Amino acid sequence: MVKQTVKKAAKKSAAKKTVKYIYSFGAGKAEGNGSMKELLGGKGANLAEMSGTLKLPVPPGFTITTEVCTYYWNNKRTYPKTLQADVETNLKKIERETKKQFGSEKNPLLVSVRSGARASMPGMMETILNIGLTEKTIPGMIAKTGDPRFVYDAYRRLIMMYSDVVMEKAAGIEPKDGEGIRKILDGMMGDLKKKLGVSDDTHIPAEELIKLCAQFKATVKKVLGSAFPDDPMQQLWGAIGAVFASWNGKRAIAYRNIENIPHDWGTAVNVQTMVFGNMGETSATGVAFTRNPGNGDSHFYGEYLINAQGEDVVAGIRTPSPMNRWSANEHSKHLPTLEKTMPKVYKELDKIQQKLEKHFHDMLDIEFTIEDQKLWMLQCRVGKRNGTAAVQMALDMVKEKLITQEQAVLRVTPAQLGELLLPAIDPKAEAQVKPIATGLPAGPGGACGKIVFNSADAIKLHEAGKNAILVREETNPEDIEGMRAASGILTQRGGMTSHAALVARGWGKCCIVGCGELEINLSAKTVKMGGKTFKEGDELTLNGTKGWVYNGALKMLEAGEGNKNLVKFLALCDKVRVLKVRANADTPEDAANARKFGAEGIGLFRIEHMFYGKNSDKPLFILRKMILSASEDERKKAVNELFPFMKAAIKDTIKAMAPYSVTVRLMDPPLHEFVPTLPEKQQELAKALGISMAEFKERAAGLHEVNPMMGHRGIRLGVTYPEITRMQARAIFEAAAELLKNKVKAVPEVMIPLTCDAQEIVNQKALIREEYDAVVAKTKVKNLNFSVGTMIEIPRAAVLAYEVAQEADFFSFGTNDLTQMTFGFSRDDIGAFLPEYLKQGILEADPFQTLDQRGVGMLIEHAVVEGREAKPNLKIGICGEHGGDPESVEFCHREGFTYVSCSAFRVPIARLAAAQAAAKDVLAKKKHK
Ligand code: PEP
Ligand code: MG
Repeated sequence: MVKQTVKKAAKKSAAKKTVKYIYSFGAGKAEGNGSMKELLGGKGANLAEMSGTLKLPVPPGFTITTEVCTYYWNNKRTYPKTLQADVETNLKKIERETKKQFGSEKNPLLVSVRSGARASMPGMMETILNIGLTEKTIPGMIAKTGDPRFVYDAYRRLIMMYSDVVMEKAAGIEPKDGEGIRKILDGMMGDLKKKLGVSDDTHIPAEELIKLCAQFKATVKKVLGSAFPDDPMQQLWGAIGAVFASWNGKRAIAYRNIENIPHDWGTAVNVQTMVFGNMGETSATGVAFTRNPGNGDSHFYGEYLINAQGEDVVAGIRTPSPMNRWSANEHSKHLPTLEKTMPKVYKELDKIQQKLEKHFHDMLDIEFTIEDQKLWMLQCRVGKRNGTAAVQMALDMVKEKLITQEQAVLRVTPAQLGELLLPAIDPKAEAQVKPIATGLPAGPGGACGKIVFNSADAIKLHEAGKNAILVREETNPEDIEGMRAASGILTQRGGMTSHAALVARGWGKCCIVGCGELEINLSAKTVKMGGKTFKEGDELTLNGTKGWVYNGALKMLEAGEGNKNLVKFLALCDKVRVLKVRANADTPEDAANARKFGAEGIGLFRIEHMFYGKNSDKPLFILRKMILSASEDERKKAVNELFPFMKAAIKDTIKAMAPYSVTVRLMDPPLHEFVPTLPEKQQELAKALGISMAEFKERAAGLHEVNPMMGHRGIRLGVTYPEITRMQARAIFEAAAELLKNKVKAVPEVMIPLTCDAQEIVNQKALIREEYDAVVAKTKVKNLNFSVGTMIEIPRAAVLAYEVAQEADFFSFGTNDLTQMTFGFSRDDIGAFLPEYLKQGILEADPFQTLDQRGVGMLIEHAVVEGREAKPNLKIGICGEHGGDPESVEFCHREGFTYVSCSAFRVPIARLAAAQAAAKDVLAKKKHK
């Protein structure tokens, strides 16, 4: 009984409690604050912060919350019942503060209505200025300002914006190209300027503007079928509705899709007193950054326009003047700075920008207006910046003690860091063209060059000092030299972890794979895409970061070699991170490169990669002999022949990486990839094996597997042909022993691939141990140590991790195969269906690029827990391609991995991602305290 009464009372009070839909700000006060971005949007929250907390001059106004936007869309574009009264109350508040009245004949208040979502969506939603100007209020405005030209200019701007944004767009009218009301009115204004012989809007005299406004209104009525409203309240509600409607405009939706901004956030609406930067020579408007967003320079930076409204700066009709000497460029250096023209206001603004930076601890982008020498702040938000600037600012701000090291590493996104590491297409040039084809972004950066269709031609072009784009249906080991020589690689087939992609990424080479729309004609040496046929020698530009192909040669930017700030910033990341970062490297050159990028060891040395690339002809030939051997005897002979090459490759690489460790993975060759396809190579091999071509073909056919990815590879090869494991173990230990003798630190970690059962490890470890004992006995090197671990890349091994860990000294997650086998998606064949999965939203991301944390991640988590249960100090790493993906690196940090390993060129990104993951931890803990 008592309980029921309490419940009823609670219900009653809940029903009574009204939701607050509007937050006011201005005159040194505010109901909201900067932390309320979810409810007030970025703009509204910061206006409140500037007004309430910082007491900066902000024109009074109010913010209608994002919840109203959600309500509006969930309730057939209607508003909560109380909203109308709330708007009226808050309008009254502004009237009291400004001592003006909305709709008054004598002393009219004009307002602006602007959008403002949680995340900035620049230019994607609507703004309407000068609301409240009507036939009735115009005379009052003229009397107050004494400037009819100014008032009618404001009126024509209102008609232009309102008819376009409220009457046409928000009403869902879709005019044909060039027939929209804005275009028509712009055209009329252009004609008038031509007739009058003036280039600047401010030179149109008042009487002409009066006539123009009348013509505008007549045209609006004729084209849109309804009259431009002459009632201030109708204008206000029309504008509010248009801003809410613009949340689901085409532009806004597309932008959110690209930027991954949730569609259910909604926008807030800010209604604010108009201040005028276009009231003559003592007024101005401008946009500024507290530091230079293009290079990170710590000087106040920006531009302004005398006698203008904000839209004039954005529209770029007039060349803005520089704020100060640091802001001048080639086009503006002759123009007067704000510092000179309005020194007092500039000083005030400079003080404000310093205050803002100290308060927000970041570089801010600010908008301001000067109305007759009085400064008003209209907006501030964290400023967008490029990679160079982001790194410079992060370093400077730590030095200035404005931010901590943890905050600094979070100030640079992996994409921004990537800008400093690779050559790229000049974004300005790229913005002006459309791609002609798209594929998977396998190797990042940009490349531009002439089309070639085979490796030999790529090499020839490279040797002639020219850039080649190697276009292939798919790549195989025979293409390696050509891939190395080419500036960029474009293939028709393949996925993100296909051979071409892996190798290209390892070299930091621009590469696009799985570009299904290519129609290659090898004999004619042509390729068709985007409706055009390209010949050998025609030029293409690739954006490997996005997977976009462009016709012709676009302007390129050089990578930031020798960039001192980059080195300093990465050193800062190293201080913050907990995860170690290793590289996947297969040659001494790769190892040296990886060191340059900051790798702390090799997490994956794929032995079979020694058969690719320079000077690999001989060992590749012997490997092929080994693969095509029919008897144990034949195979043993080939294995022994291979031994010195293998030992040399391992020794040189360990030496290049010393004193850091190298994880040498036993051979995991996809056998079919190594059978030569060229007839002359086949004949040569048959001859060396002393067999006929017929027999060769029979043996090659015998190697054919229906499912090579699940076939005779990895540890299975070692189980069936123990002599192959023995030879590799011997090569590893002899290499290490010889290095130790020469005082080079060498502690090899032997890694077994493709394990599915602990017994496989037992089997192989016995062979490895015997070889170790033999090498120690032979070389007499006593301090030769080693460990034997395994890759976890088959779901069964992850499930049985407790048992596996009892036999293994370390785990390294091979997430390429683990993803392949968990999904049942062949990593080489995803091109045929994955794009459709992504398009239809069945999967959110390519699981071969970003670790599938829900599925594959669950297996990993289980394996980590079970593995450490069996061996608390088990070393755990990842060496699949995900090791260089920032989101996946964060996952590895959370799961308590020891290290991540990725291709050399991605090491800096992994260092940053690891630091960011650790920084988030530290900052979250601080917040908790
Ligand atoms: C893996 O499967 O994740 C891995 C690193 O091995 P590979 O790519 O060589 O199969
Ligand atoms: Mg694998």
